[in-house]
Parts: sequence; structure tokens; C-alpha cells
Amino acid sequence: MTYKPLILVAEDEKPIGTLLKYNLEQADFRVVIATDGQQALKFAAQEKPDLVLLDWMLPIVTGIEVCRQLRAQTTTALTPIIMVTARGEEAERIRGLDTGADDYVVKPFSPAELIARIKALLRRSQPEASLEKITLRDVEMDLTAHKVIRAGSEVHLGPTEFKLLRHFMQNPEKVFAREDLLKAVWGENIYVEIRTVDVHIRRLRSALHEFGSDDLIRTVRSAGYAFNANAN
Ligand code: CA
Repeated sequence: MTYKPLILVAEDEKPIGTLLKYNLEQADFRVVIATDGQQALKFAAQEKPDLVLLDWMLPIVTGIEVCRQLRAQTTTALTPIIMVTARGEEAERIRGLDTGADDYVVKPFSPAELIARIKALLRRSQPEASLEKITLRDVEMDLTAHKVIRAGSEVHLGPTEFKLLRHFMQNPEKVFAREDLLKAVWGENIYVEIRTVDVHIRRLRSALHEFGSDDLIRTVRSAGYAFNANAN
């Protein structure tokens, strides 16, 4: 029997929730529905879903706050989140992505489009579940425990910096253009400015520098960035 991924649907409008559940089950997913933000957080902790479909406008705890709290918990820090917004909530969409949502859909959306997005996100998030540890130089990444150790001390990284470092360490010495990094870390359907990459690289570098002076992320002029697998 193949594994059926569990989707947590946080949606307070019952007819939409019912329709989503029907369509997702037809596509071979299991579904649990939360009808407010508090319930969404509770179910996320209890059920450990493979992906969260999160309505922006939720009672009790808002979608954005749910997103923030999911990112702050070790167990859900890397769980893919798709934010659902109503048309015209452009500013919210951007804030949603800032908070750590991986993708967004705008209501009304077609079930086929949504399912395609879910499958794409799950494909991207799967390797991290199957790999355990990567060690390069004085850095050790524990992908299961979501921990980074440099020279014996734990480095605290945000979810984006963690994904960036993982991508670099899985491909040491490979030079990535900013566009490649956007695609690998933020995803195909995300529209973020190219300079956002530089912001997160800076954060990653400064976090790594706390416990070691060697520059691990190399800037390759007019090309992008690479992980220095060998000491200079
Ligand atoms: Ca709603």
C-alpha cells in the first residue's frame, strides 16, 4: 500500500472545506479539517500533516499567526504551507510569504491547479524527510532534527536560511545563480525579488560566522554563490 500524504485544511467556510476534502480525497490524499486557527495549530501538532492548506482569514487565530507559529515549532518548521487568500489581498499575500508560507493560491481557484501545487511542494519537501545528516568542513546539518552545528555549537537559522544551507551543502562547490536559489528554496510559483536572496545569504553568513571565521558561502562575481567545501 502506498503512503497517502495527510493534508491539514484550515478553512472556516464549511462548503469550501467540504469541497476541498472531496477533491483532495479523490486525488488520493488524506484530509483533516480545522475550522479556526486555534484548531489548526492543535491539529498540526497532533496529526503532523505533510502539508497545510491555510486560509488567510480564520477566526480566533488568523492564518498569518498560524503560519508564524507553525514555523516556530520544530515539528512543523519545514512543513509546506500553502496560503489561501481572497482576490485583492495582495499585501497580505506578500506578508504571508514573509512569514514563511511556501506558496499561495487566490480564491476562487480550480481544484486541479491546487492539487498540482500541492504535489509540487510535496515533491520538494520529501528529500529532507529521507536524508538524515550532512557534514562538510566544521558544519553538521541534522535534517531530521532540523539542527545545524558549527564547531560544536548550535547555529540558529530561520527556515529560509536552513533551506538555503541545505541546498548548498547538498551541492558543495556548485555555483548557483540567484534565480537557481529562488527556484530551489522558494519554489517555482513564488514571485520574490531577486535581491531577497542576498538578504537571506547575509543572514545565513552572519549566523554561521558566530562559531567560525572561515567564509563558507563564497560569492562568485556575476554568477552567484557556492559552498566552499575545501578550506582555502
Ligand atoms: Ca475564511
